[in-house]
Amino acid sequence: MSCGCTSRLTDGRAIVDHVKVKGKQHLAPTVAHEINCDCGETFTLETVIMNCPKCGMTYAVTPCGSADKENIKQAGIKYA
Ligand SMILES: [Zn+2]
Repeated sequence: MSCGCTSRLTDGRAIVDHVKVKGKQHLAPTVAHEINCDCGETFTLETVIMNCPKCGMTYAVTPCGSADKENIKQAGIKYA
């Protein structure tokens, strides 16, 4: 059941596009990682694509890569 989201997806915007095409942007990640945003805000990643509640920076991770915090990438302000 490969969904094609391998570690080759290292660009945040590519991850957002890929996850949206698959319709999986509202899935919860395997682990609810705590994000320390560049703006100083700390929030919990509740879905695989989520904006910082303070500055709107979009964070993205593929569902099958979501166990590893290293796979979470920034995609730009309000990209999602
Ligand atoms: Zn932020």
